[in-house]
Parts: sequence; C-alpha cells; structure tokens
Amino acid sequence: MHRPMSSLPAATAAIAAAAIFAALACAWAAAGPAAPAPAAGRPAAEAGAARPLKAVVIAGGHGYPEKEFPKVFEGNADIACTFFTEKVGGEAYDDISKWDYDAIALYNFNRKLTDAQQANLLKLLEKGVGLVVLHHAIAAYPDWPEWPKIFGARYYLKDVEEGGVKHARSGWKHDVDFKVRIADAAHPVTKGVADFAIHDETYCRFDVDPKVHVLLTTDEPTSEKNIGWTKTYAKARVCFIVLGHDEKAYASKEYRTLVAQAIRWTAGRL
Ligand SMILES: [Zn+2]
Repeated sequence: MHRPMSSLPAATAAIAAAAIFAALACAWAAAGPAAPAPAAGRPAAEAGAARPLKAVVIAGGHGYPEKEFPKVFEGNADIACTFFTEKVGGEAYDDISKWDYDAIALYNFNRKLTDAQQANLLKLLEKGVGLVVLHHAIAAYPDWPEWPKIFGARYYLKDVEEGGVKHARSGWKHDVDFKVRIADAAHPVTKGVADFAIHDETYCRFDVDPKVHVLLTTDEPTSEKNIGWTKTYAKARVCFIVLGHDEKAYASKEYRTLVAQAIRWTAGRL
C-alpha cells in the first residue's frame, strides 16, 4: 500500500514496455484486454491445451515497479500474458464479446466497477475463466459486496461498523523478512515449492472465509496467518496469494513458481 503512483502515462508505459518485452511471451495491451482472437466466443473451459494458456494481467490504481513486474511471469513457455493497465478501473470488462483469456491475474487496487462491469466479470467467472488475485488486489474492488465472496477475503481500507460489529482498518507493514510455510504441498499450485523466506510487505486484520483451502501460512506477527489459498466461485477456480509488493518479492523463485502454477491451475491446465 501507499506506494506513489507513477506519473508515466499509461499509454507511454504500454509502448515502452511493449518495446522491452516484445520478444518475450508476454506483451502489454495498449487498447484493452480483448485481443483479436481466433478463439473469440469460445468458452475458456473448452479452449483445450492445444494453444498457449492466455492470461490477462490487470494492474492499476496502485503504484508498483512497472519494469520489474512482468518478470514475475517470464520463463513459462506455455503461458502467454497480456498486461493491461487500467486508467479508471473496470474497463477490462466493458466488452467481453471477444474475450478469449483463460485466466485473469489481478494486481489492481481500489477500483469501482459499474453494474455492467460487475455483471460481465461475473459472466466470465460463470464461464470458468480462472482468477488469480495478487497482493494489493486483495482490495481490488473494496466497495463491491460480492468481491470478498469471489476470492475469500475482506480487507478494510477504513474502520467499518456493520450491524453493530466494528472492524478495525486492515494494516500493512513494508520490508518484512518472514517465512512462508506450505500448508498443502500436494496441491498443483504449491507442488514442488518448499517453505521459503521472502522479503515483502505483510497485511493484517483482514477477514478470511473459513471455507477457503489454505495453501500458504506464516507465523510472522505482522501478518494474518493464512496468506494464500484456493476456492471456487461459480465455475471459476480462484487463487489468492498475498505476496508480491515489489521487486524484492518478485525476485523470489518460489513466488514466481506459485504465480505461474496458480495461473495454470485456475485456467484448468493442471
Ligand atoms: Zn504492497
């Protein structure tokens, strides 16, 4: 939280990043996430394994190291990422008529969705499009009551009192060295990843749906215990990973493996 937004206009960032990453599997989308698509109209769940898994990575509303972030997704020949930076938030869901992404990875923060955008995102999840929620996207759509139900947690951007129950504002702490424990080593998302140390921001005082399938925990006192999990919502597989504040976290091989495996699993490829 609280990293200053870059002053670089989104379009300039997209062009610069496209130049840098053109040779890689991942590319930045300048106009929107709905790429001209041979598979247009085909439900993601039926897309099969013949073509690379297509993921759209949506950022916006929060600063982050823009040059380094795409490196989190590199080195996976089977995953083609399109990076999309929102200008106002929600425009990724404005027109889903040509949607052909198998998974969405959210790295955005504090966005408001129109009723139509909410309905379209729900349509995608009902079709089985996978959803990976990373780090500050814990508060991607904090005003949308459905958002915590979709991915399994509620992060409070301010003190809230509801039905006589008080919830203190959620917290965060930068630059913490802590140990991440694998709670379920047999899950496809965590397979091959052992307990690891990371230097990252921690979040605390957020609610976690007790029905999520916990994959990652920590004993770090500035963090909630459960920091990574899976669940389903409609026909969608959903995975949340609290990690990923900046390049110090991006540098973790284990983090990058978890993100790639989360994309594959939510897309139905594992
Ligand atoms: Zn952060």
